[in-house]
Amino acid sequence: MAQPDPVPHPEAGSGAVRRLLAVREAIARAARDSGRDPAEVTLMAVSKTFPAEAIEPVLAAGQRIFGENYVQEAKAKWPPLRERYPDAEIHLIGPLQSNKAKEAVALFDAIHSLDRPSLAEALAKEIARQGRRPRLLVQVNTGEEPQKGGVLPREADAFLAACRERWGLTVEGLMAIPPAEDPPSPHFALLATIAKRHALPLLSMGMSADFEAAIQLGATHVRVGSAIFGERG
Ligand SMILES: *Cc1c(COP(=O)(O)O)cnc(C)c1O
Repeated sequence: MAQPDPVPHPEAGSGAVRRLLAVREAIARAARDSGRDPAEVTLMAVSKTFPAEAIEPVLAAGQRIFGENYVQEAKAKWPPLRERYPDAEIHLIGPLQSNKAKEAVALFDAIHSLDRPSLAEALAKEIARQGRRPRLLVQVNTGEEPQKGGVLPREADAFLAACRERWGLTVEGLMAIPPAEDPPSPHFALLATIAKRHALPLLSMGMSADFEAAIQLGATHVRVGSAIFGERG
C-alpha cells in the first residue's frame, strides 16, 4: 500500500530559509559566548550570483540586509525586489571601479570596499551630486595580498585621515577578507585594532566559514553567502 505523502513543513520549499535560521542561531550563540549582545551583530546575506527567485524567500522570512559584489548584477536584480520590500538594504562588498561610483551611490545603502584615493574622490563627487549617502567602510588588505583590494594596514591611518579631511567623507567602519589559507583570527584582531584607533563603530568581517571567530573579535557585520544560499555555481 502506498504511504501517504508526508505533510510538507512550512519552510520545506526553501533550504535557504532553513539555513538562514540556523545561521541566525549560530550568530546569537557566538555573540553570547563572547559576552556580547546578539543585537550588536548584523547578518548580511550575501546573494551574489543567486537570482531574484532564490532571494525572495529569504526576504519573505524577514532578512533585510543583503550583500552583492557586482554593480551590474545588483542593478538588474534588486529594483523589483525592493519595490516589494522597500526596507531591504543592499551593501556592496566587491571591488568598485571609480567609473561605476555614480551607479553605486544611486543603488547601494553601504559600500564596504572603499580602498583608494581615486575611488574616494569619485564617491565624494557623486554623494554631493546625488544627495545620497551610502554608509562607507574602508577595506583593509590585512594579508597584504597583491591580487586583493584594500589599503595596506600601514596605509590605513593616512587613508582614513584623507577621506575625512581631503574628501569630506564620513567613514563608519572597516572591512577585511583574510587570506583563504591563513587562520582568520589574527586578521580580525588587526582590523579591530585599526578600527578602535579611529573610533570607527562598524567592523565588517567574517564569512560562512569563520563568522563565529569574527564575532568573538568584535564583528558588527558578518557577510554570509554559501551557508545560507548554498554553493555558488
Ligand atoms: C562572496 C563573499 C562573501 C560570502 O562568502 P561565503 O563564504 O559564501 O559566505 C563575503 N564577503 C565577500 C567580500 C565576498 O566576496
